[in-house]
Amino acid sequence: MKSGWVDRDAETIVAAGAKSGIDRDLALRIYTTRLLGRDPKLVLHGGGNTSLKEVMRDRLGADVEVLRVKATGADMAMIDLAGLPAVRLLPLRKLRALGEIGDDELVGIERASLIDPAAANPSVEIMLHAFLPHKFVDHTHATAVLSVIDQPDGEKKCAEVFGGRLAFVPYVMPGFGLAKKAIDVFERAKPSDGLILSKHGIVTFGESAREAYERMIEMVSRAEEFIARRRKAAMAPARRGTAEVAQIAPIVRGACSEKDKTTEGAWRRLVLEFRATDAVLNFVNAKDLARLSQAGVVTPDHTIRTKNWPLVLPAPDPGKLAEFARVAHDTADQFAARYHRYFEQHNARVGHIKRELDPLPRVVLVPGLGLFGLGRTKRDAEIAADIAEAWVEGVSDAEAIGRFESISEADMFDCEYWPLEQAKLGTRKEPPLMGQIAVVTGAGGAIGAATAKALAAAGAEVALLDVNFAAAREQAKTIGPSALPVVCDVTSAASVRAAFDAVAAAFGGVDITVSNAGAAWQGRIGEVDEEVMRKSFELNFYGHQRVAQAAVKIMLTQGTGGCLLFNVSKQAVNPGPNFGPYGIPKAAELALMRQYALDYGADGIRANAVNADRIRSGLLTADMIASRSRARGLSEKDYMSGNLLGREVTADDVAQAFLHQALALKTTADVTTVDGGNIAAAMR
Ligand SMILES: [Zn+2]
Repeated sequence: MKSGWVDRDAETIVAAGAKSGIDRDLALRIYTTRLLGRDPKLVLHGGGNTSLKEVMRDRLGADVEVLRVKATGADMAMIDLAGLPAVRLLPLRKLRALGEIGDDELVGIERASLIDPAAANPSVEIMLHAFLPHKFVDHTHATAVLSVIDQPDGEKKCAEVFGGRLAFVPYVMPGFGLAKKAIDVFERAKPSDGLILSKHGIVTFGESAREAYERMIEMVSRAEEFIARRRKAAMAPARRGTAEVAQIAPIVRGACSEKDKTTEGAWRRLVLEFRATDAVLNFVNAKDLARLSQAGVVTPDHTIRTKNWPLVLPAPDPGKLAEFARVAHDTADQFAARYHRYFEQHNARVGHIKRELDPLPRVVLVPGLGLFGLGRTKRDAEIAADIAEAWVEGVSDAEAIGRFESISEADMFDCEYWPLEQAKLGTRKEPPLMGQIAVVTGAGGAIGAATAKALAAAGAEVALLDVNFAAAREQAKTIGPSALPVVCDVTSAASVRAAFDAVAAAFGGVDITVSNAGAAWQGRIGEVDEEVMRKSFELNFYGHQRVAQAAVKIMLTQGTGGCLLFNVSKQAVNPGPNFGPYGIPKAAELALMRQYALDYGADGIRANAVNADRIRSGLLTADMIASRSRARGLSEKDYMSGNLLGREVTADDVAQAFLHQALALKTTADVTTVDGGNIAAAMR
């Protein structure tokens, strides 16, 4: 591991800080915190912290000694002043005299000692920083260090690798107890560079930001070199393609869902993130996977993201997927039952004061394929997968130099159910479609894009399919980094298959499909060319059938129901003159929706349609609006609002109708009219 320190960068940040009253030490504290935070081998998703002790002037003009420590949950790679709240040091230091202190009381004292009362909560490891006397303290859960110390003889290995420059602190749960233990060890051993926190991580300190940082890099490098000398060469494993991942992922996802006990027809679902690096494949294909996979976390705070063990499935045989699905469901049920027992046992130990989290796995290992991270959102799934990859590396390397050993199950429980750890996840009210995956076709157009946005705003992960990839990508960008643009020509069976494979591989499956792609052809029906009719049917009927078939296949594999939504347009029920080539396949599409509702209701798959009219879109362009309103002798505004309510109907109105249908768990075979009122087009 190389030091990331660059003099010029350091001076740039010092100079920039000086302009806004940030002193040199603080600017360099920000600089090295970012250096640590940007390397995932050192710090992953909030798992590390830094601090600085300095004298600052408080609001009353008095000089006070403060500890600036990373805010809990703050991203070190992007840290700024607000991410390093200042806390009066003296009251914190006095706490050392106490034997024990409750979490709430401790947080209360910390908050009361903040210089800025509105500042963020300091890191859960604040007391460790407060008790150590050094000006700069850096703490990480560096993967290589964990491999060295997560061992039955971790203390011996620590002495061997770090040559006495780091003192060894036996495992204590993070928090006040660990801080007291660490300062006791420090005062007794007086190490020159820092501390090893057994089964947890490393602390380095120094009188300058650079000294503490360079010591961290040097110590982690020592661990890396120690491992590299002993690591056995791994084989380059065989890799499977997207199509196979797309076949397996919906089985895994279905197995790792649970019925929502409060609402009939609702499910608690997770989103998947797939990884198959060489390291992951070597791990999941290892002979002793059964032992390694159950060995526990590499550092305690990972437990809130990955739980303490992954779900391990057998290697799938592509020719026997039904058998794989049966075993996957059984194994997932056993996982949930084991998690429940684990909770019951340890909750009894602590006096029945905890509330059980959901028992669904957050990491799934599939030999021959790779690993899945699972989460309520795509982002959470990615975080779980990142941590699972670090865990794979940590355990594999620990085995290369000895035998991996984690903390006890009781210790894991105490961390997993520690309120201060859970607080890192934040309190969020879950939006109604959270955990669901939606596919929208024609998503580069006005109605498709508005619908994708509405579903995403309700918490769904969205895939935007369009024959025009650039248009889909543009719209996806406005939704966020998780929105997935996919090229899809719904007139091609191969293209639809590839698009749904891409969605299943990216998110794990599909729950909601909005079949919206379409285009209009015109012609007087007795004279229209058959080729025109066939073209329109290919897109406006078969396109919907292909998309619905692809979606239903995945939904049946998941076994958690689903929702098919169709844009049928007013033409399906109220044909316009010379619009036969468009209206007739749209009428067939309406029948298609009803057939899906009929044939798949028993599988919990709902099918509904929106009947919309006169929406500004690719089918009704500004030029068309101008010429049609002129032809009728109306203003454009009067033309667009020519309905019973006298209101223009927008793509957002259509999107809200689709969203309503996605949420209405007791509604199927329904047509919702969104046209401002048109009696001739009313359903009968
Ligand atoms: Zn830590």
